[in-house]
Amino acid sequence: MDYDTAWRRSVDEPEAFWAEQARLIHWETPPQRILDAANPPFRRWFVGGTTNLCHNAVDRHLDARPDQLAIVAVSTETGVVREITYRELHREVNTFAATLVELGVGRGDRVVIYMPNVAEAVFAMLACARVGAIHSVVFGGFAAHNLALRIDDAEPVLLICADAGMRGGKVIPYKPLVDAALREAKAAPPHVLVVSRGLDTDMAWNEGRDVDYATLRAKHDGADVPVTWLESNEPSYLLYTSGTTGRPKGVQRDVGGYAVALAVSMTAIFDLQPGQTILCTSDVGWAVGHSYNVYGPLIGGCTAILYEGLPTGPDPGVWWRLCEAYGARTLFSSPTAVRMLKKQDASWLRKYDLSALKWIFLAGEPLDRPTYDWLTEGTGKTVIDNYWQTETGWPALSLMPGLDLKPVKPGSPGFPIFGYRMRVIDEGTGEEKAPGEKGVLVIEPPLPPGCLTTIWRDDERYRRSYFGHFKELLYSSLDWAVRDEEGYFFILGRTDDVINVAGHRLGTREVEESVATLGAVAEVAVVGIVDELKGQVPAVFATLKQGVSDDPRDVAQAMERRVVELLGGLARPACVYVVGALPKTRSGKLLRRSLQALMQGTDPGDLSTLDDPNSLEEIRKAIAHGP
Ligand code: ATP
Ligand code: MG
Repeated sequence: MDYDTAWRRSVDEPEAFWAEQARLIHWETPPQRILDAANPPFRRWFVGGTTNLCHNAVDRHLDARPDQLAIVAVSTETGVVREITYRELHREVNTFAATLVELGVGRGDRVVIYMPNVAEAVFAMLACARVGAIHSVVFGGFAAHNLALRIDDAEPVLLICADAGMRGGKVIPYKPLVDAALREAKAAPPHVLVVSRGLDTDMAWNEGRDVDYATLRAKHDGADVPVTWLESNEPSYLLYTSGTTGRPKGVQRDVGGYAVALAVSMTAIFDLQPGQTILCTSDVGWAVGHSYNVYGPLIGGCTAILYEGLPTGPDPGVWWRLCEAYGARTLFSSPTAVRMLKKQDASWLRKYDLSALKWIFLAGEPLDRPTYDWLTEGTGKTVIDNYWQTETGWPALSLMPGLDLKPVKPGSPGFPIFGYRMRVIDEGTGEEKAPGEKGVLVIEPPLPPGCLTTIWRDDERYRRSYFGHFKELLYSSLDWAVRDEEGYFFILGRTDDVINVAGHRLGTREVEESVATLGAVAEVAVVGIVDELKGQVPAVFATLKQGVSDDPRDVAQAMERRVVELLGGLARPACVYVVGALPKTRSGKLLRRSLQALMQGTDPGDLSTLDDPNSLEEIRKAIAHGP
């Protein structure tokens, strides 16, 4: 079926369309109603149906593909590679589930998981799903305070952690952070289940509270834990947003809608049939990791490669070597990660046999043209930009090569996915914008299956944060977008990332894109700073590619000239700083508001999700020193 017909049907006849898609998964009891949208902005999909994510991801494949690899967990940090078949996965997950049951975890209980990208993180998630518990994976790089905040919000009955992670050859102990978080948290759970990788040999042990997983694994090996069937709309997990714009929100996901959305996406978007392989370079702690390191590929009967390590470690060929070794058909990553590779030699892209690889999907931030060109030319593969949010749980805008590949337009994530009716509207009047005009990207309710159902225990915040921006009840993405004559969407940045120069609204992304066209520039962030005369003016922060030996002052001048050349004198940067690193969230997104606050001496807000506090410190010095 062609995209236009299929998409049209998904929004015009949602009940008929989604009833068909629901057949992609196993229902213990079939849904009585496909959609209940009587209480907007809330909606319920597949009402009355009972199912289970773990059953769909694991048990359902035991007959057809027991000996196929389900998970390949590769760590270039520890040098460990674990190849796990569906049969082995089933055994591990049951063992883990029996452990959870022994520790008193049951239906509706929350379990916080604080782990690196190791196989046990996947076992733990699936085991929670099996017994009907609600997991909340906290990215294993967050500091104790971040963890404590999430513990207090989720009020877990159990915390599962690893002894340590590794990054760039360095062991990063997790357990001391857990101990500190539990001292700070008001809602500390009675037990901590520790998966020891043997990385932290002098880990402190809290008798009575801490439980060693290896001991319980040996005890429960071979256990059989029956699946707990959940009503489609019961919560499956909580996941906090990246906190780029403020206090992270506890996104709550359902069971049935999520499973169906992922099943659809595996074939229609990611073009993966059962038995095929995906390498998703995300971390299980992010939305992409939940959906495409764990649940999506497994529900789809695929092989998922889980990777612990840097894109460049031990060398910049690691992704491509893995693609070759496991015959990956689809690679899923982010522009940030690709820009790390782009600092290295492009010949790495041609070193391995990538004949099985068909698609490279990138999500998470704007895909700038130079990065797109570099990757497309270097690999010869089709690079597909896709747009989504933690809230949506799966892509909202993307081309769908598994269905009907429309021509790629660089810089555009393409068209709405099934069930998403999207508009670009005026932020003031709420009127729909004409093609070529910039506005706010919104989704008309009901949100499709897969998207959040609410914010954990805060229906009011859900209503206010997402649906409280316009007279009409519309989900605001809080991103700027424009649609062209052919209906392709382009994302222009976040609604709070706008620079108002003498009444003209400049997107930070527009300025960044023009700076990025200079060959010497690796990464760039642009923010608006207060100017007495013009209201606001752009300030540019950039890093240079490795091996660039030009005088930073010359490059800074070239950047200024380039912006003026491409966007006009109005966009002329007030200052350009060439720095060593840009401030980013742990998920790799530019934290522009921190730069803006530094420049203006204002309150930067919540900086707890900042990846490397040193980057800001260095920039603070650079600013004090002058451009
Ligand atoms: P918070 O909501 O807590 O401020 P966040 O929005 O950074 O954090 P995520 O849900 O991880 O948390 O990120 C979603 C955002 O990432 C989108 O709203 C958008 O701004 C950006 N984004 C994702 N994919 C793309 C893409 N393909 N092109 C442009 N921007 C994208
Ligand atoms: Mg967001």
